[in-house]
Amino acid sequence: MTKTRPLLAGIELGGTKCVCLIGYGPDEVLAQIEIATGLAPDATLQAIETQLETWKAHYGSIAALGVASFGPVDLDPRSRLYGHITTTAKPGWRNVDLVGRLERRLKIPIGFDTDVNGAAHAEGRWGAARGLRHFAYVTVGTGIGVGIVTNGQSLQGIFHPEMGHIRIVRQAGDGFSGSCPFHGDCLEGLASGEAIRRRIGQSPKDLPPEHPVWASVAHALGQLLHVMVVSLAPERILLGGGVIAGQPHLLAQLRTELTSSLNHYLLAPELEDQIDAYVRAPALGAMAGPLGALALAARRLESQGG
Ligand code: ZN
Repeated sequence: MTKTRPLLAGIELGGTKCVCLIGYGPDEVLAQIEIATGLAPDATLQAIETQLETWKAHYGSIAALGVASFGPVDLDPRSRLYGHITTTAKPGWRNVDLVGRLERRLKIPIGFDTDVNGAAHAEGRWGAARGLRHFAYVTVGTGIGVGIVTNGQSLQGIFHPEMGHIRIVRQAGDGFSGSCPFHGDCLEGLASGEAIRRRIGQSPKDLPPEHPVWASVAHALGQLLHVMVVSLAPERILLGGGVIAGQPHLLAQLRTELTSSLNHYLLAPELEDQIDAYVRAPALGAMAGPLGALALAARRLESQGG
């Protein structure tokens, strides 16, 4: 039954690990492995390429590859730097030509986007944003990213939006200087997993829901949701990533923050009695990211009529 479907491969390239997978979709992932994102891109990409070639020998020809990468990345096909990671703070990974290198080696079509845009497309295709025209996916992990999909396309202008770096109003009494190497106390600098780790000297993973740091985090992320609603008016906002997934109480806190912040200025059922469905977890859970890479591969095939 699945044999007429194209075989797809995906790489979710993260700041600490890459998830590589091969399959047909969420219902049929044939294999998946993790490779550490080392400080030397060459060695990391070599390991990925070897894995994909091993899979090709085992499972057969791969119709397309999707690469969902940490950023910032250049997504403009007209640009000389298309397919490159650009100004990342991750040592060694600045100006790495991801797509060009993988195309030369693997000789298959490659769909390329940010990791959050990939996750948003996966949710649009297979998850909690199916049937929606205009929606957003927020990830709160080591960093904070926002993917926005409009009419089936990732929102993009001179580059992809980086809403994790908006300026926000600090919570009264918050003296933390922030962890963003570019802006200090931008949203990511105040509320990402890395920011939390620096604030309290430990990973947010095992913190109890009543830990006081969550109030600062919810205060900051509530402002992101407010900005998103008033500037983008998405039909739904999905909130994923390791920090949110590990702390389910945050979703309820964020709905309260958003409602209180908007103060009933905008009238829509999504912001009133439907708020639980409006601000919600991704349906694909922790697989939204890796499946995002497969979704990018599928999109690439469709764009060429494959
Ligand atoms: Zn920043």
